[in-house]
Amino acid sequence: MTTIKLPEFSNTSADRIPDIVSRVRKTFHSQKTRPAEFRLKQLRKLYWTIVDHEKELMEACQRDLGKGFFEALATEINWVQNDIIFMTKNLEKWMKDEKPADIPLSNWFMSPRIRKDPLGVILVIGAFNFPIQLTLGPVIGAISAGNTVVLKPSENCPNCAAVMQRIVEEALDPDCFVCVQGGIPETSALLEQKWDKIFFTGSARTAKIVAQAAAKSLTPYALELGGKNPAIVTKKADMRLAARRLLWAKTLNAGQVCISQNFILVDKDVASSLIEELKTAIKEFFPNGAKNSEDYSRIVNIQAFNRIKKMLDNTSGRIVAGGTMDAENLFIEPTVIEVTDPKDSLLVEESFGPLIPVMPVDNLDQAISIANEVHETPLGVYAFGSKEETDKVLAGTRSGGASVNDGFFHGTIPTLAFGGVGDSGTGAYRGKASFDCFTHQRSITTTPSWMESMLAMRYPPFAGTDKLKQYNKMALLKPDFDRQGNKKVSLLWWLLTLGTGSASKGAFRVAVLVGAFVALRMLMGGRVLRNSNGEWLIIQVKS
Ligand code: NAD
Repeated sequence: MTTIKLPEFSNTSADRIPDIVSRVRKTFHSQKTRPAEFRLKQLRKLYWTIVDHEKELMEACQRDLGKGFFEALATEINWVQNDIIFMTKNLEKWMKDEKPADIPLSNWFMSPRIRKDPLGVILVIGAFNFPIQLTLGPVIGAISAGNTVVLKPSENCPNCAAVMQRIVEEALDPDCFVCVQGGIPETSALLEQKWDKIFFTGSARTAKIVAQAAAKSLTPYALELGGKNPAIVTKKADMRLAARRLLWAKTLNAGQVCISQNFILVDKDVASSLIEELKTAIKEFFPNGAKNSEDYSRIVNIQAFNRIKKMLDNTSGRIVAGGTMDAENLFIEPTVIEVTDPKDSLLVEESFGPLIPVMPVDNLDQAISIANEVHETPLGVYAFGSKEETDKVLAGTRSGGASVNDGFFHGTIPTLAFGGVGDSGTGAYRGKASFDCFTHQRSITTTPSWMESMLAMRYPPFAGTDKLKQYNKMALLKPDFDRQGNKKVSLLWWLLTLGTGSASKGAFRVAVLVGAFVALRMLMGGRVLRNSNGEWLIIQVKS
């Protein structure tokens, strides 16, 4: 029996929301959040408050999702701690003005630069499956970029939400950062407010509501959504390795992971071997059964449990491993199902649970075609096979990210930009992308007064003057392509680059040719000499 007492979850009254938002907006306009020192202090205080509440967070993860200690630390608590340290180490460097590339010489005197401005007041709406990481992660980015923030954790993990509120209130400046609690009514009230950016993680269904609300005031947003992610396994793949890696991706957080594969398309010649390896891997991961494992999470609530159960009830596939369910304990065993119909419920709906449909296919082309039919732009794609085959999968599909020879490895690198494409999401975050996501890149120039006479050509009157000619001399570019769309190459450039289009490649080719020539001469009995200064090669051939 645990002794850790957790704070109570309670909804924020929707009536308070306009005042909260106006308070953080007023603070934003006071410029309080702009200095680097302020941002760094907030992040550092947040770090230590998370450390102080680590046990409460672990307990909350256990009560809300049955998360074991390894997952709670690695994917939630330590994850956000690392995020803070990475941000604080890099923030001042990222905040500096940037010198843009490719500015024409004639504009250098105006000192073109990109200033990193905060966007303003940010709303972060979290999802339930990684309640801490997916809520505090974007908040860390928004603080780093100098914004004020209102965060709304998922009400479906009430214990995590309540502990996060305590942490935010203890660590952060209350005029800048506020945690609002609640479900649909409270989120709807938040969406009625004016924001400078909304960062939403959750389902495509809710994302449409968020995007519609944002459209009313032309508010920008980032949407981090789900996907019916395919895994493709060819004959040339290592079946044991593919099975273990894909099982890991479907049993972490009991498959409640937006980037885990939704289904596996496997070459029919090796389908039974992959299924056998999946069965073996299940026994290895959970020697006493998943139900008795402290490392295996539970489904978040009975609605989600029933939804996953219904998907399994509706499949025309055949359960080949697992299948046990316990509604009272919200337990679903890792379940492998052999499927034959690409329209099967297990393929076309996002399971967001530990279901592992395996569908045999005739060849790689068919696998790519089915993957694209199920979801044109999923969040992730996972390819197992030879280099040539996995390259073909990458070239034949689109997705937010992809891992080759693994389940969602790319999504476990905390500093690699993470986001969807098309209907799996808009915008990316993590690492530097988190700073950029909440920063406005403000292009700035300063025109020196002494340039006035040089700029006179831009002022009317123009008729009867040669101002356009002068202007074109400075600004008009010449095309380096012909009317057929081919690049024009001057003879001099061709000679310099030996037709490679690059001076360094050309120089390399010259070196190779000279080397080959010297070697040949020596083989034919020649000698290679240098002059007295050691500067020149002289090739002397014996007659
Ligand atoms: P959800 O859309 O049900 O809820 C997300 C948030 O939206 C919650 O805070 C909730 O309170 C709020 N919300 C729900 N319905 C609303 C409504 N009608 N109006 C206003 N607000 C509303 O999503 P979820 O169940 O928490 O998460 C599961 C989904 O999220 C899956 O589809 C999964 O793929 C996706 N997801 C994506 C990522 C990612 O980073 N791309 C991460 C985790 C989860």
